[in-house]
Amino acid sequence: MTSAMEPHAAWQKRYERERKARLEAEAIAEKSTRELYELIQNLKKAAAELRQAKEAAQAASVAKGNFLANMSHEIRTPMNAIIGMTELVLDTELTDTQHEYLAMVREAGNSLLSLLNDTLDFSKIEAGKLELDSDVFGLRERLGDAMKSMAFRAHGKGLELAYHVHSEVPDALLGDASRLRQIVVNLVGNAIKFTTQGEVVLDVACTSQTDATADIHFTVTDTGIGIPANKLESIFDSFEQADMSTTRQFGGTGLGLAISSRLVELMGGRIWAESEPGRGSGFHFTVKFSLAAERPSEAQPPQTVFPHDVRALIVDDNATNRLILNEMLSNWGMQATSVATVAEGLAALRAAYDARQPIHLVITDCHMPGEDGFDLAEKINRNSQLADIQLIMLTSGSEPDDIRRCEQLGVVAHLLKPVKQSELLDAIGLALGLQVTEAEMPLEEARKLGALRILLAEDSIVNQKLALGLLQKHGHDVTVANNGKQAVAAIDGECFDLVLMDIQMPEMDGLEATAVVRAKEMKSGRHVPIIALTAHAMAEDRERCLKAGMDGYVSKPIRARELFDTIAALIATEVPAQSGKTPPAMQGQATTEPATSADALIHWTVALQTAQGNQDFLKELVQLLLEESARLFVEIHAAIKEQDAKTLQRAAHTLKSSLKALGASSVAQAAERLETIGRENRLSDANAAASLLHQRFDPLKIELLAFLAGETTIA
Ligand code: ADP
Repeated sequence: MTSAMEPHAAWQKRYERERKARLEAEAIAEKSTRELYELIQNLKKAAAELRQAKEAAQAASVAKGNFLANMSHEIRTPMNAIIGMTELVLDTELTDTQHEYLAMVREAGNSLLSLLNDTLDFSKIEAGKLELDSDVFGLRERLGDAMKSMAFRAHGKGLELAYHVHSEVPDALLGDASRLRQIVVNLVGNAIKFTTQGEVVLDVACTSQTDATADIHFTVTDTGIGIPANKLESIFDSFEQADMSTTRQFGGTGLGLAISSRLVELMGGRIWAESEPGRGSGFHFTVKFSLAAERPSEAQPPQTVFPHDVRALIVDDNATNRLILNEMLSNWGMQATSVATVAEGLAALRAAYDARQPIHLVITDCHMPGEDGFDLAEKINRNSQLADIQLIMLTSGSEPDDIRRCEQLGVVAHLLKPVKQSELLDAIGLALGLQVTEAEMPLEEARKLGALRILLAEDSIVNQKLALGLLQKHGHDVTVANNGKQAVAAIDGECFDLVLMDIQMPEMDGLEATAVVRAKEMKSGRHVPIIALTAHAMAEDRERCLKAGMDGYVSKPIRARELFDTIAALIATEVPAQSGKTPPAMQGQATTEPATSADALIHWTVALQTAQGNQDFLKELVQLLLEESARLFVEIHAAIKEQDAKTLQRAAHTLKSSLKALGASSVAQAAERLETIGRENRLSDANAAASLLHQRFDPLKIELLAFLAGETTIA
């Protein structure tokens, strides 16, 4: 029994041992699981806390950005009032001391305002709220305007300010022009601020170009104090200045470059600086712009050329200016030479005269060391051999007397430096008796137009002459109005095929005049095509013109190709083989017989078929068409004005169907074009198409009215 118990006890003992061990292992496992669970819980909690902290930090940063943005925005309003009111008081009678104190208030106000603007921009960028616009703009014109706005500051310090856009740089770009201006103004402003002597130059080159984009490299160089090598990178950080001790001398906050560098980044480019302390700095930035597909002709530098035998001499002591002017003139096909002094200039003029190659045009800087531009003008005037020379003077605008002296000396034009290409082109046109021609004259388009009666509303004598020259050369009959009021009166009294309307005119501007004309046309049912003459090729300008009821636009200075292409696009189809001066709107007026040719406005046989051969019913249909079309035209114009593509499509469609039913197929085609424009949402083409529709519909209306009056008999 004992022996039988023995193994059992041993087994039990082992069992107990194993059970204990198992229990212990289980306890350990349970403890570890619990500990692991706790660890995971703790980790989760820590992660949640971390996330919360991060979110709180982000929210705080956004809130800080928003607060800064809101505050700086809010402070700007009273700030503007303070500056504005101070300016008003400054215009009243004050003692010298009062004037001095208030001038200081205004100055302090202005610096505070620019600081606010910087803070607003910076906080907007930091809060990720700054969005770039994308519009078509003309690079040369925009940069020219920006540089001109800095001219006063530069010339006030006796600095030369120049800008040079290389000829290969495309002009019509798509991007945010005002932010580009901000960067340029900041860099050029700094360059002027930190330079006491010499020049500040903006150079613009194209480093690579595809069919769709262009990489543009901007460089602003100066001959100023320079920046130490160890500061070249940090100056792009916010609130960093190369030399804090200069703050008092030059002012500033250290935000300008930080903003510029963020803006360049947003534009997909790079910004950097190089400098040699004591010799000057060069600030570079690159931007990749899309090319504006809308205006391919503008994507090239201006094609205008002068006759090859025009010889020009440039007299300027500044080598950069000589280079820039020389390049511009050569690009326009002139024979240009340049010299640095008045003595050299006179020698060159005499030598050219002796060689029977006289110089036609002199472009001279006004202020030069030693003998200046006025001395040159006087000497040219005194020499009878040089009497035919035309003079253009480049002034810095700092001397109020300059303009009067220019006039006394018979200078054709005086231009404020830095000169914009478009201004120089206009001035040369004026100086040379407007011998502006095009590289290739658009004879084909011009010939197709026949002779038109055109009203030219333009206050600038130069542009009047230029446009008159171009238009009359092609046989058009041109009436001139000097302002918007005169234009409206002329359109009231006479029937024109086309109006060329300047935008900025005294008395009544072009937009207002167009609105008046269009309002009157609501009653008369007529529609005279109006082409705007705009100083800028900016998309927003074009939008404004089209919204005001204009049908197209041409940018100034007027170039023959662009002008005739635009006119042709608007009305060429309407005057195919016309030789006389009958305006398109008058066609068909003499129709007493039903038209039968292929170009007939209305196929009466088709119309009669639609009316089931019943003349009375046809009269009812015609009456209905007239009433319906009047309503639909109102709808079409409202839809274009409100940019409502759907309504435009529907109204044009209804009109097309009615016209087709009555066999007025060419007018129906014009309506169909408008319908397609609505469907494809191409509203920028709508005004031109609506104008064409009007031109075709007007004579049809006359014929329909003649039919209703019983003047037309249908076999
Ligand atoms: P601010 O001009 O308001 O101080 P910026 O951010 O525009 O701020 O410039 C930062 C600093 O970079 C300036 O304070 C100056 O020290 C240096 N700097 C910028 N441009 C030039 C320049 N053209 N020549 C010399 N120093 C410059």
